[in-house]
Amino acid sequence: MALQESSSGFRAGFELHVSLNTESKLFCGCSVAEKTAAPNSSCCEICLGFPGSKPLANRKAIEYALKLALALNCKIAPEMRFSRKVYSYPDLAKNFQISQFEVPLGENGFVLLDSAKKIRIKRVHLEEDPAAIVHEGSVASASSCLVDYNRSGVPLVEIVTEPDISSAGEAREFFSKIRSIIFYLDIFDERKSVIKADTNISVDGGNRVEVKNVTGIKNIEKVLGFEVERQKTAVKAGTGVKRETRGFDEVTSSTFSLREKETEDDYGYIIEPDLTKIVLEKKLVKEVRDSLPELPEEKVKRLKKEFKLSEYNARVMASDPELGKLFESAAKEVGAELAAKFLSRELLGILNYNDLSLRELSLSSKEIISLLKLLEQEKVSEKNAKEATIKYVLEGVPPLKFLKGEQLLSDVPDDTLIKTVEKVMKENPKAISDLRKGEKKAMNFLVGIAMREMKGKAEARKVQEIIKEKLK
Ligand SMILES: [Zn+2]
Repeated sequence: MALQESSSGFRAGFELHVSLNTESKLFCGCSVAEKTAAPNSSCCEICLGFPGSKPLANRKAIEYALKLALALNCKIAPEMRFSRKVYSYPDLAKNFQISQFEVPLGENGFVLLDSAKKIRIKRVHLEEDPAAIVHEGSVASASSCLVDYNRSGVPLVEIVTEPDISSAGEAREFFSKIRSIIFYLDIFDERKSVIKADTNISVDGGNRVEVKNVTGIKNIEKVLGFEVERQKTAVKAGTGVKRETRGFDEVTSSTFSLREKETEDDYGYIIEPDLTKIVLEKKLVKEVRDSLPELPEEKVKRLKKEFKLSEYNARVMASDPELGKLFESAAKEVGAELAAKFLSRELLGILNYNDLSLRELSLSSKEIISLLKLLEQEKVSEKNAKEATIKYVLEGVPPLKFLKGEQLLSDVPDDTLIKTVEKVMKENPKAISDLRKGEKKAMNFLVGIAMREMKGKAEARKVQEIIKEKLK
């Protein structure tokens, strides 16, 4: 179900859960395990909530959460508390989750969209991740399930927005801005974890519906599309929209009812008595604020000024810190325009098409820059440069090695090229007169012959330029 890009008569807000890439968990010294670690190999009596076990807050996790809250323009609480939230599922053995309710770490922040619209951030708080429930076989047929407590106690930051999002485009932009900020802050490892979103959606005349645990922007868009349609139909039919919590089925791209929505009272929050009040001293907040790296918005401004990039190119280059770094080193060697054009069109195109990110690949900026230099010197055609990039990204073959191996580097001196073109023009008078009459096909024909004569080692664009020059 396609959702219109423009405002579509609905309001949506997010609760995003981001796991922090600290070495140890939030309340104990257990390490944050890799996905491949043996089940229950990284847990202790605190992760398992044994009676008498006492949690101890991880300072690094608080600093990371503080960084994020500051980057999201939040007001930082002078002191914060952890609270117990009733939680009666097997993935938290102690029957409560340690979260923050009464006094969150940060409140009243915002993310600015490119349109200058503010998406208000209601709060940013820290909590522990529950364990992972593992079903053997299909969920429907399983008579029992297994619990892996490696994830139990991993620090999570929850970002809660106000319901300010009113189109799929805004949802997409907000989500990608948050992703970009957490990558700049280097507080999240996408190899270990995914960002999970609970989305609340309401249409005019209906109640607020929450859809739990959706991962990835494509699924969020599907949820919005499905729910807005479902809720609008219900309002139109006069049956009304129930306040409830729903789940998302990825296979059918639809949502289904889970339970009537609980209110905050149902969670029975109490202040966690085993953890003391944590004072967020002004000195600490200042230190963390001063340590913040350049953030995407600042980078956009700097790239525009320093490299004369267009707004669009600056935003693309600043969208990912790795890409930004690569651009800056390339722009110093081959010029900003060529670097931005190649990185955004070719490299990003290949990465997006294959669902890859620069962080998970270890591409060398040296290799990319040497390819860009070949392009700049017109020693390789754009088509072959793209081919070489695909080989490099997908198979790790260095571009220069590939181009040399396939004999795709043009080492033809310009005068040979000019002579070849002159010869081709002389031998094809009919094509030349067609070309003078404005027949574009004749140009393709001539370029094709010249390229064949040069055994593909010339650049079509250059051949075309020479023909045009000669025709004048
Ligand atoms: Zn532990």
